Amino acid sequence: QPVIGVLALQGDVREHLLTLAECDVLARPVRRPEELAEVDGIVLPGGESTTMSRLLEVFELLEPLRLRLAEGLPAYGSCAGMIMLASKVLDGRADQHPLGAVDMTVRRNAFGRQVDSFEHDIDFAGIGSLHAVFIRAPWVESAGAGVEVLATVPESASAGEAAGRIVAVRQANVLATAFHPELTGDGRVHRLFTEMVRSA
Ligand code: GLN
Repeated sequence: QPVIGVLALQGDVREHLLTLAECDVLARPVRRPEELAEVDGIVLPGGESTTMSRLLEVFELLEPLRLRLAEGLPAYGSCAGMIMLASKVLDGRADQHPLGAVDMTVRRNAFGRQVDSFEHDIDFAGIGSLHAVFIRAPWVESAGAGVEVLATVPESASAGEAAGRIVAVRQANVLATAFHPELTGDGRVHRLFTEMVRSA
């Protein structure tokens, strides 16, 4: 069974571990470089990307994680995790360190105050209709040619500017969603990721 780590510095670690536990993998929290070295895939949870980014430095995981991602370690980031995987962050903070695992620019807290949290059914490529929970979520402002768009905000959810915005992507072995499948009890996105790890 593949070993999948969940970065456990901050955020909804437990929810990811519980969802992964249903996917026939060994799911483990990762807080130390030695633990990172043992995983076949890594999940970056939802939470607060500036805090998580700072803790990555404090726990001396930033460079080891960058290195493993550069070597092709499969990764999945939800919400704050998506922000961390980006190559560029808009409305980020100076001490935010994008990992650059996906060639995309992400806007933090993109949906704004009016609708800073909302739920809507979206159409996810290869999965179908999925109930998506957005909590002070980012969106993908732009993505490079090598990035596959897996989901966008449907017109029916249209909060003005939000309609059509990219909210799920994949580039090679890296998956990212602006929403939180770990909060809905629907394991299909995690299953997609664990299949990516298995075939990597
Ligand atoms: N707004 C948060 C950030 O910028 C992300 C929110 C989330 O993960 N639910 O990191």
